[in-house]
Amino acid sequence: SPFRTVEIADEDAMVRLAEDIAAILKPGDVIALSGDLGAGKSTFSRALLRSFAGDPELEVPSPTFTLVQTYELGRLTISHFDLYRLEEPEELEELGLDELAETGAALIEWPERAWDGLPRDHLVMRIIQGGEDDRRTVDFELSPDAATRWETRLTR
Ligand code: ADP
Ligand code: MG
Repeated sequence: SPFRTVEIADEDAMVRLAEDIAAILKPGDVIALSGDLGAGKSTFSRALLRSFAGDPELEVPSPTFTLVQTYELGRLTISHFDLYRLEEPEELEELGLDELAETGAALIEWPERAWDGLPRDHLVMRIIQGGEDDRRTVDFELSPDAATRWETRLTR
């Protein structure tokens, strides 16, 4: 069950949430972005990367076909994954998820496609789109090993 739930009114509020997370992100952080098509996983990722880079124009292409796009942003390398088209678990290894997540931070869209191959220690942000409007609910959940890593940073 979620240890924190955030009600998001519109896209601007989602951008602000991404900015808040960008401000506390550190090496080894893995964020699994769960949610249906159009929930806002890419919108969140783009906003987080732009905020971290301090560049509102930073190009953040969807890694739909490459599966991962890596951004070297000074003090932190952030890897943006989209596993929707992952075909077999071996591909995760080839993409270097474990290494990238150890030395940098990782944002992972469609984590459900990873066949339990995600780093054990991760934060799940589940984006829920209730109706047709711009509102979203974001549930925060931790994998069993992740509590000590995130607890003190995400209590607001
Ligand atoms: P996903 O990557 O989850 O498939 P996207 O981020 O690509 O979703 O698309 C989300 C769409 O919903 C975008 O067109 C965005 O402008 C729109 N949108 C509307 N309200 C919100 C919101 N509160 N948070 C995120 N995106 C929103
Ligand atoms: Mg997406």
